[in-house]
Amino acid sequence: APAEAPVPAARPCGEREIPAVLGADLEVPVRGGRLVPYANLDYAASAPCLEPVSAAVAAALPAYSSVHRGAGYASQLTTARYEQARHTVRAFTGARPGDAVVFTRNTTDATNLLARSLPEGTTVVVFDTEHHASLLPWTDPVRLAPPAFPGEAVRAADAALEGVRGPALLVVTAASNVTGELWPIAALAHIAHRHGARILVDAAQLAPHRPLNLTALDLDYVVFSGHKLYAPFGTGVLVGRPDWLAGAEPYLKGGGAVRAVNGGATAQDPDAPEVEWHDDPEARHEAGTPNVLGAVALAAACDALTATGWNALVREEGRLLGRLRAGLAAVEGVHELSLWGPDHPRVGIVSFVVDGFTAREVAETLSNEYGIGVRDGKFCAHPFVRHLLDAVDTSGCDPDNAVTASAVRASIGIGTTEEHVDRLLAALADLTSRRG
Ligand code: PLP
Repeated sequence: APAEAPVPAARPCGEREIPAVLGADLEVPVRGGRLVPYANLDYAASAPCLEPVSAAVAAALPAYSSVHRGAGYASQLTTARYEQARHTVRAFTGARPGDAVVFTRNTTDATNLLARSLPEGTTVVVFDTEHHASLLPWTDPVRLAPPAFPGEAVRAADAALEGVRGPALLVVTAASNVTGELWPIAALAHIAHRHGARILVDAAQLAPHRPLNLTALDLDYVVFSGHKLYAPFGTGVLVGRPDWLAGAEPYLKGGGAVRAVNGGATAQDPDAPEVEWHDDPEARHEAGTPNVLGAVALAAACDALTATGWNALVREEGRLLGRLRAGLAAVEGVHELSLWGPDHPRVGIVSFVVDGFTAREVAETLSNEYGIGVRDGKFCAHPFVRHLLDAVDTSGCDPDNAVTASAVRASIGIGTTEEHVDRLLAALADLTSRRG
């Protein structure tokens, strides 16, 4: 009898199929010259490009021209695409009416822009668990030790902001790039506001994995990067309150940021300023020709994620992450790093160490012998990784060949499959069986 056609599983209303990523069929050489399918487990560094993102860039390529300046049709189209991208990011982040959406090069650029826009005398409070992009741009910040549990983070922020006079900013990462753990950003925003402070949320690792809503979470600023959000390199954003940005020195000085450049004081107008900068934060801080195609790509990624629906994305990621973490726990000598314990909610990022092997040895072996891409190191979060490694129990292994100062990170997202996860687990089991 003819086989019955399989009945596709019903998708919840409003959800589209999860889009494909480019490079899913990439093959890479392993030792001996053999080609094997690449298992990319390094999404937290840079995620692969989604097909709809690639299509949006391809559609914009044939007719681009100057932005915000030219009168020609291609120029008008380019300006419209760029401003539409800004509008898309505004919607994607649930920004309030009037919030600024400034395109930057990446998250690091966005945090630095805000750092340069702080009013005189702003107190900045930052956790030592931050990525360097959110840890380093501030002058003399108040640094808070890694909190032992989420409530402790809120308590520490509360204590640090108590009695602060003048403007203040609390800086926190929404999802750790080391452990994937989610931070209590709504509670932290509440505490910050109770003290009259503002909050900046580094959403570089949250945005690709969870919905983000400034209005609902009552966040003042968020930053993230396109290249971690399934778009190519070169574009990030700072979204948030416009007043500090409007009052700051332009981040870059040049064309686009100025309303007028005068000859300076004249006999008719002795007070004429030489340069009149734009007041609106977007023009003020985006001097020079912007990365329009990068903005188009970033916006297309936002659209693709929204159209797919977060329920489907979170469900699929949770399934694969559960498989990965359970599998890692079952490999003897593998220790997952965690600040708040194995049950704390997290996005698809797992860092671990392997008894008897340095992180570099593990990562190189995974790549050279198994065609698996992971990251090793301290993930631009040196104080945090040091803190986590201090807590790993290495008493069971040879002290000369124990866990060193780095870790291995596997991170997943759209395009990750069970087969990728299982290959990593099998490779680690294989590797650890070589331990003397
Ligand atoms: N913040 C977090 C949490 C990150 O994971 C990263 C990237 O690794 C950054 C900031 C910096 O992002 P970018 O290198 O795109 O500026």
